Amino acid sequence: MPFDLVVKNATLPDGRTGQDIAVAGERIAAVEPGIAAEAGRVIDAAGRLVSPPFVDSHFHMDATLSLGIPRLNQSGTLLEGIALWGELKPLLTQEAVVERALRYCDLAVSQGLLAVRSHVDICDDRLLAVEALLHVKAAVKPYLDLQLVAFPQDGYYRSPSAARNLDRALDMGVDVVGGIPHFERTMADGAASVRALCEIAERRGLMVDLHCDESDDPLSRHVETLAAEAQRLGLGGRTVGSHLTSMHSMDNYYVSKLLPLLLEAGVAAIANPLINITLQGRHDTYPRRRGLTRIPEMRALGIPVALGQDCAMDPWYGLGGADMLDVAHMAVHAVPMTSREAIRWSFGAVTAIPAAIMGLEGYGLEPGCNADFVLLQAADPIEAIRLRATRLAVVRRGRVIAETPPRLARLGLEGRPTGVDPAGYAPRVAAN
Ligand SMILES: [Zn+2]
Repeated sequence: MPFDLVVKNATLPDGRTGQDIAVAGERIAAVEPGIAAEAGRVIDAAGRLVSPPFVDSHFHMDATLSLGIPRLNQSGTLLEGIALWGELKPLLTQEAVVERALRYCDLAVSQGLLAVRSHVDICDDRLLAVEALLHVKAAVKPYLDLQLVAFPQDGYYRSPSAARNLDRALDMGVDVVGGIPHFERTMADGAASVRALCEIAERRGLMVDLHCDESDDPLSRHVETLAAEAQRLGLGGRTVGSHLTSMHSMDNYYVSKLLPLLLEAGVAAIANPLINITLQGRHDTYPRRRGLTRIPEMRALGIPVALGQDCAMDPWYGLGGADMLDVAHMAVHAVPMTSREAIRWSFGAVTAIPAAIMGLEGYGLEPGCNADFVLLQAADPIEAIRLRATRLAVVRRGRVIAETPPRLARLGLEGRPTGVDPAGYAPRVAAN
């Protein structure tokens, strides 16, 4: 048997159609039309989209699925969310964090989400969540890549033991340096925290991913400091500014200076449209700001931008379900970015772009890549976003690890078709 698995007649995210994907062991052996060789298992994609797995480059797995414990966020603000998480933290047990994270990963796998960068709060001196998520990272490794960020939720300087705990967490094996400069006591403390955290990343040879300027404050300037520090320390290509929502409210002249600094320093951005469309603008009356960062402008300049989920059913966000197509769908609407080209780009912003930002090895649909991919009930990436398409099959290292039946409705209408396949409504529009 030359191949273990062959997927026939797939459409790929880059627009190629009629492609067969042959898998030998854990790797993709060939991607070309008309592969005739025998295979242990054959899946007929029937012209539908096969994509590399979804990637969530910004998440909080220590808080996920804790919605309502010990109470709900009444104001819907970031600050009440942080306060509520502070009430929950002393109540956490390692078993409960592990259990919720594993349950979340089950859901993620079913949605074809096979790589997650999760921030983990290090402000609890017990480092209970760190231990729990390191355990989860090892447990889910066969089916999901979990990258952890040491995140001082209560402030690197504002929380008395955060600096020591952050070092401890990195010593324990947490992968990435995190921070939250806009939550420090002063703008100066925030800038100092960016500097200190970037120096830690440089010293340890790690990536750095800071929650940055997640506010409606047009004068929040931490991403500027992040760019300057990335430049000074040579952290280009391994530095991320997450959220960057204040950029929505900044003066246009200032942004015209800021964005080239990010590009020059090699800083990538991660926007989190589901949560930030709900958290931002809460102090506005009308007109009410959307509070998303400037995605099209960063894209136009060549700054890597990914879309993250951030939260699912936790103190900050009561909805969410490991569905990265939902994230892309929100971005398309809320930014807005409705050209065919921009919608197609949004699909990349929840797949290939975050994979590159996270430095995932063997990611993609080329021969030699890991045999990790998702068959969707959709004709192409735009359709996948339009439909939040069903993940018909999820393959990890050549093995089908999740399957969902296609979404098909039966109709009982006189003189009309007997059923509806929502994916059958794909429009026939010219490219772009
Ligand atoms: Zn976050």
